[in-house]
Amino acid sequence: MLAQDWLNQRKQSLELMEWLLAFQPKELPPDLKEQLVRIGIKSLSPAEAYSALMGMDWALSEFKTLLPALAPEIQECLKLSDRLAVGSVHDTEFNGFAINLKDDQGIAIVFFSGAFFTLNMAAGLLCLAAEPQFQTRICDAGSLTFGIPNSESIRLMREAQLRYWWDSLKPSPIEFVSWNLPHFVRRYCDLGVSDTPDALRPFEPLPLPGDPKRYGHPLEASSYLAAYGRRFLLLHECGHVALNHLTADEKPVKPIAEREYEADRWAFENLIYAHKTEQEKAVSLLGAWMVLTTLKWFEEYAPIEAGSHPPAASRLDRLIVFVEDEADTRAEFRDDASRLLRQTAKLADDMHQASEQMRSDLAQIGDSLWSCIELCSLEGDTTAFRDQFPRWLLQGVPDKLSRAFANARRRVAEETASAAEINPQLALKQEMLDWALRAATHSNSQRLAAFIRATDYYADRAT
Ligand SMILES: [Zn+2]
Repeated sequence: MLAQDWLNQRKQSLELMEWLLAFQPKELPPDLKEQLVRIGIKSLSPAEAYSALMGMDWALSEFKTLLPALAPEIQECLKLSDRLAVGSVHDTEFNGFAINLKDDQGIAIVFFSGAFFTLNMAAGLLCLAAEPQFQTRICDAGSLTFGIPNSESIRLMREAQLRYWWDSLKPSPIEFVSWNLPHFVRRYCDLGVSDTPDALRPFEPLPLPGDPKRYGHPLEASSYLAAYGRRFLLLHECGHVALNHLTADEKPVKPIAEREYEADRWAFENLIYAHKTEQEKAVSLLGAWMVLTTLKWFEEYAPIEAGSHPPAASRLDRLIVFVEDEADTRAEFRDDASRLLRQTAKLADDMHQASEQMRSDLAQIGDSLWSCIELCSLEGDTTAFRDQFPRWLLQGVPDKLSRAFANARRRVAEETASAAEINPQLALKQEMLDWALRAATHSNSQRLAAFIRATDYYADRAT
């Protein structure tokens, strides 16, 4: 079996089509339908829409656009073939990985569909809190890189619109956004999936290029920032391949942290190489900053185990040092790019500070899945859970979600065992969990069988 077959098999084993169809057999929710149309999935029967969604591969399409911009020897080293496969699979990890497959099958570079959504949301929150001038700068660079029209009249239109949004977010853009940040981070750390933050929801979806409403739209700048971030994620993994970090030998050549820093640096250098103008180069480095800052937000909530990957905070420090002192560019460029990074870091700090109260409030309540179940049962209406749960699955079923689901099952079982009679609230909790589990049980998918096994396992262990 060669790398490409290995990747295809992996894609198949992670798909959740049957589960999603069991939840929404006839009609997709209208807003989801609209989102899918926006990302090019025009077919609107749920079966066709989900199968197109599962087939979507952001990593491969982004990789194919980026590769021709790299140095000829790197293009040669990373040429797609049976023995070098690149693609995204349906799961929620934020970082991708590169693997040298056993038995000389070649190399696979794997990314996750969930990272696409998570990065969009993180960039969305940051840009919504950022001044119009900052957003304009990202849009100017992004239009160049991604071939979006950006005439003088478009720029004027953008400026006016951005100013309008900036003035309309009350009490201030930072405060408007900041209470969403802890929710977003907590959801990802508890369940391994991301929800579109409430602050972004009213603005979705971003109009397509050519639509006048796109220019200066609150999600325009973040769409480019996230795209540069995806380029960094891709280049980091490509760095592991190009730097020969993946030996067939089980024994790694260097300690993990050292390899990670090297791959980061390789990615920073290639971001600079791959983008033509200094304007784009600086903003592409901001894409790397966005990825590492998102990881830092997650690590502040749920610290990573010592000895695994180096902490995002120290990877960020190295990005700053690279830009200030080491990048092989004009000194003026380095000054300008480091000023941009520092200003953005200050904005992120301000957001973090403004969300202090919400963070401590959230620390008092149970995990995101359980709070959703409890709230629905108290309100006597399961609609929110039935709407929310399949949306999480659109990104995959991370282990954390299985674990939270198992915990919820255990809590309901305990409540049932100690209750004199099943009151309506408890009955609703049972109903929601049964609904989700029943849909998984009636399928032949390997992934769903694994989900049930995992929730059984965690439910047993928790008692
Ligand atoms: Zn790495």
